[in-house]
Amino acid sequence: MQKLGDSPIHADVLICILRALPTFEALFATIRVSKALYTAYNHHRNEVLNAVAFNHVGPALPLALQLARHNEHTPTEDYMMVLSNDESLNYWDFQVTIEDICHLVKHANVVAEWEDLYSFRKKDIRRKTSQLTILQSWRFQKALYRLMLYSRLFPADKTAYAITKNGSVSVTTELERECLLRKEFLSDCFNNELNQLREVTYFVMEIIKWVDNVDSSDMIASNKEFMDIALSVGPATILECFQNLGFEPLTETINRLCADTTPEFFEDNTSRPLLSGYLLDFISSVLQARDAESSQHISIPIPILGIGPSMKALYPRCSQCSSSSPFHLWGQTTWDYLSLSSQVLGTYLFPSLTTFLKGELRNNPVEVKHVEALLVKTPFKEIYQDIHTKNLKLSQWHDRSDDYWICTLCLTNFMKDHLHLWVIMKRKEANDQIANDCWYGYNCRTQVHKLGHAQQLNHLCEPTR
Ligand SMILES: [Zn+2]
Ligand SMILES: [Zn+2]
Repeated sequence: MQKLGDSPIHADVLICILRALPTFEALFATIRVSKALYTAYNHHRNEVLNAVAFNHVGPALPLALQLARHNEHTPTEDYMMVLSNDESLNYWDFQVTIEDICHLVKHANVVAEWEDLYSFRKKDIRRKTSQLTILQSWRFQKALYRLMLYSRLFPADKTAYAITKNGSVSVTTELERECLLRKEFLSDCFNNELNQLREVTYFVMEIIKWVDNVDSSDMIASNKEFMDIALSVGPATILECFQNLGFEPLTETINRLCADTTPEFFEDNTSRPLLSGYLLDFISSVLQARDAESSQHISIPIPILGIGPSMKALYPRCSQCSSSSPFHLWGQTTWDYLSLSSQVLGTYLFPSLTTFLKGELRNNPVEVKHVEALLVKTPFKEIYQDIHTKNLKLSQWHDRSDDYWICTLCLTNFMKDHLHLWVIMKRKEANDQIANDCWYGYNCRTQVHKLGHAQQLNHLCEPTR
């Protein structure tokens, strides 16, 4: 009997196995398993590396390779020459090397996380991993790799910053040169790809806005170019900001790129033509130039999720009011947002949790102070869970099930109905002394203007008169 791998048929089978492995991690683990597998790999290394790279990265591999091979020390102009020289580089045939792998994997992870997020927000709120079809995923990934490459080639570094600061004659030429390079980069895309790139850029901007909301740093309000600055640091850094719920990773990147100018970078309000409209203006300008060239040919842009039957069937509805505002629904997969502290969530979703207090309670200075102190300590999600699990829920509200969703409006009303009950329960749990109930309960008007009355009686109760 022959040893495994000795006959040509065995070797073919082994190579087929290696070529089918889904990730580089799986590949390098597998070739350690047996000498036969290792030998097969060694003899067909190029073929196997290319196949696994395709399995791991997907059909956007040519763009992924362009990004993996970009070196920040190479001048953008030189790198663009390499990209545009079709004869020297055909990425479909181009050999993936061991040096590429580390970059490919790192970028592929970033792209996969963005795709999960996109699918969750735009396609299927019930699932946190990507539910995009192969075609949708390919469109999304191409656009995201392009965005990553664009931010690498045109970073918000000191050159971008200094061009307008420098009053010499060559400023205009410098500026024109950079604008031309940007347009040249985008000219490689078809119209649909440019529209999809724009769509992904808007999505990334949505995420920047969300971070700005929860971070309550008001970066967007205080600097009109903040969105462009954020785009220029690239999707990997923005993803980190999203995960950390704050802009520190962004400031660190700007610090690194542009050490001398950081404080001014965020505060400077003079015009910086390379920052304002950083990407979107250039996409528009390339599309407009094409439209002007071929005015009789009107193409319909294909969005990432495609044209066709609306995705509405996938959207759940609010279990209480049946409204279908899909991405303002709270349920199993969106609880994470509700686990932010009440304070943080307050600035994002609800102006102030005490406005949820029923009747005249929100104008009772004594209660508002107490309740605010309690709310600051308790994540919103915990309050909501308590109401359901500690028997506080009023019967007119649905019980939760696995597919229970509640819209923001209903959630607001739900809190109005229950918050005072929850506060009283917390006081009982803490063995606080609770004063006698006022007959007029939360509707009492006297609690608003008579401090003594507000202090002496409990108003977190149903009116009995
Ligand atoms: Zn509702
Ligand atoms: Zn009263």
